[in-house]
Amino acid sequence: MAEELAELAAQDLAFGYDGRLILRDLTLGFQAGGLFFLVGPNGAGKSTLLALLAGLLAPTQGRVLLRGQPLSSFSPRELARLLALAPQKSTFSLPFTVAEVVAMGRRPYLGRWGRLSPRDQEKVDLALTRLGLESLAGRPITTLSGGEAQRAVIARTLAQDTPVILLDEPTASLDIHQSLGLMGLLRELAAEGRAIIVVSHDLTLAAVYAQEMVFLKKGRLVASGPLAQTLTPELLELVFEAEARVWADEFTGGLAISWRPRPNLGPSAS
Ligand code: ADP
Ligand code: MG
Repeated sequence: MAEELAELAAQDLAFGYDGRLILRDLTLGFQAGGLFFLVGPNGAGKSTLLALLAGLLAPTQGRVLLRGQPLSSFSPRELARLLALAPQKSTFSLPFTVAEVVAMGRRPYLGRWGRLSPRDQEKVDLALTRLGLESLAGRPITTLSGGEAQRAVIARTLAQDTPVILLDEPTASLDIHQSLGLMGLLRELAAEGRAIIVVSHDLTLAAVYAQEMVFLKKGRLVASGPLAQTLTPELLELVFEAEARVWADEFTGGLAISWRPRPNLGPSAS
């Protein structure tokens, strides 16, 4: 039932390359107004799941529902007005300016001549400001640092102004100030009623900002649910294979985590 009420849902989803399954048995719902963190070890299938949720890959089995309708029932333009993805890596070969890249987020709204309306321009300017890109707006994207380009891609995604926003490792090349700024922004966007899904391996950020957690390991859903119920030492150890402590942190108002390696049981133990 939760999946049917969800803004975006995966139903019995499986995906594989060349017969080798990367993801299986995934049934999950992402509700409007929620800030979801999707976490798991490297290679767990997080980016693949985002690509399936965004309709960039077709599932081997199962389906993705957006507002209760299969993704395949939307035209590309309709889909792009409802759902936006900031990929983990983007490569730019053409020297578009940062402002032009961000304006590409408005493509699903443009008329036949492709001109930005004042409202489109407003959304572009707001996204540039929100990501602190004003002074870089005229720079060719090909000349930016990794973190600057990452912010431009996130700004393009926000300019798309969709009810569902997927971000793949958005803070990977950001500094702490920028990461906290982005998290505050995502929290606001969720409070506006959007469904925000963030892939991250920054569990420290997740512990403070996530409302809902989704844990993935080896292509399977291990657990999902509200932060306080799922971010437990037992589950973290199961998923990440390290010992964890979790406690309520007055300083952030969220949870805090610390880690240590599992005790080495020696070669005879395994
Ligand atoms: P994560 O984002 O959690 O680190 P990915 O979704 O990128 O994981 O990858 C999940 C698994 O799928 C990995 O084992 C990866 O090697 C494999 N994989 C990803 N892309 C391809 C591809 N194009 N062809 C074959 N295997 C792939
Ligand atoms: Mg990934």
